[in-house]
Amino acid sequence: MIPLFQVPMAEQAPAAVAAVIGSGQIGQGAKVVEFERRLAEKIGNPRVATVNSATAGLHLALHLVTGGLTRGDDPDGEVLTTPLTMEATNWTILANGLRIRWVDIDPATLNVDLDDLARKISPKTRAIMVVHFAGYPVDLGRLDKILDEAEARFGFRPTVIEDAAHGWGSTYQGKPLGTHGNVTVFSFQAIKHLTAGDGGLVVLPNDELFERAKLLRWFGVDRTVNRLRNPPDVTEWGFKFHMTDINAAIGLANLEWSEHVVARHKANAAFYDRELAGVPGLELTQRSADRESSFWIYPMKVDDREAFMKRMDDAGVMVSNVHERNDLHTAVRDYAALLPGLEQVARGIVCVPVGWWVTDEQREHIVATIREGW
Ligand SMILES: *Cc1c(COP(=O)(O)O)cnc(C)c1O
Repeated sequence: MIPLFQVPMAEQAPAAVAAVIGSGQIGQGAKVVEFERRLAEKIGNPRVATVNSATAGLHLALHLVTGGLTRGDDPDGEVLTTPLTMEATNWTILANGLRIRWVDIDPATLNVDLDDLARKISPKTRAIMVVHFAGYPVDLGRLDKILDEAEARFGFRPTVIEDAAHGWGSTYQGKPLGTHGNVTVFSFQAIKHLTAGDGGLVVLPNDELFERAKLLRWFGVDRTVNRLRNPPDVTEWGFKFHMTDINAAIGLANLEWSEHVVARHKANAAFYDRELAGVPGLELTQRSADRESSFWIYPMKVDDREAFMKRMDDAGVMVSNVHERNDLHTAVRDYAALLPGLEQVARGIVCVPVGWWVTDEQREHIVATIREGW
């Protein structure tokens, strides 16, 4: 079976981890500092704070920009968000005591429909969450203009939180995600392009948010002062969301290799783009010249998905839609909305293996199987 996901672990990772485990310092220390320095270099933004998962990062990001509410503090406050994502994105809204307001999906990109988003901004909007689905960047330039209009109309500018869990290696207007003026969160979970075992990264657009993020990821306590001799006051309570040196060592060991991982995902995707264009019963997602997807997954829309999946399964190819739409879960039934764009595509989305482990022969087999029909 050609798998849909694999853990990208560099050869030198076990030795790097063993060195940390035996070093007497396994918590947040020198390895975390080094990992952050290298990540900041790669992204081109010095304001990066590692955390123990992207979920924690999104939770922290929302907490930072909405002021740190508990349930009931702000009964009307809502966050505009996409229903097509890992549940992690949206459950952090509920964990922050805020309401979900679903934004429809653009069937062409599988990202949020920015027209629908513009319509739904209101005085109740506390933040906006977008996901770069599969790694394909949301049109951040257009989103910025929408926020300009909202600011002129309502007198405030909602903060955008970009869930870039799929987007390590994606670029928008030639620059990596995390450099476009919003709060951006990456995931270093087991099967993402760059893994730290588990882990995440919050990238901040200004120094004030950056300083608060570093404090609030660890109880609100300043780790840069000698806490035993000189216990600092905590002015704002925080979480236990920090990364450990064990995870940072895994991330560091994988960092350089992640470039090759992403490059292979992109190369396989370019092959599919070329070879699958025009196949009857199948529609590829949109590509735009001003952005490049990291293709964590390769989504497309097919007629009769059940038959397609059966055919691929018979041919030894693992396929899946990967993320179920979130809005139909019982846990969020209070926020149900009409989402015609999502309705149009949800039952047709399927992803085929595109990752670094897919060989030339395997991708040819995948294309040949699809071209035979299902
Ligand atoms: C993987 C993923 C997350 C969660 O990442 P963790 O690091 O596992 O917490 C969030 N959003 C999306 C879109 C993801 O794919």
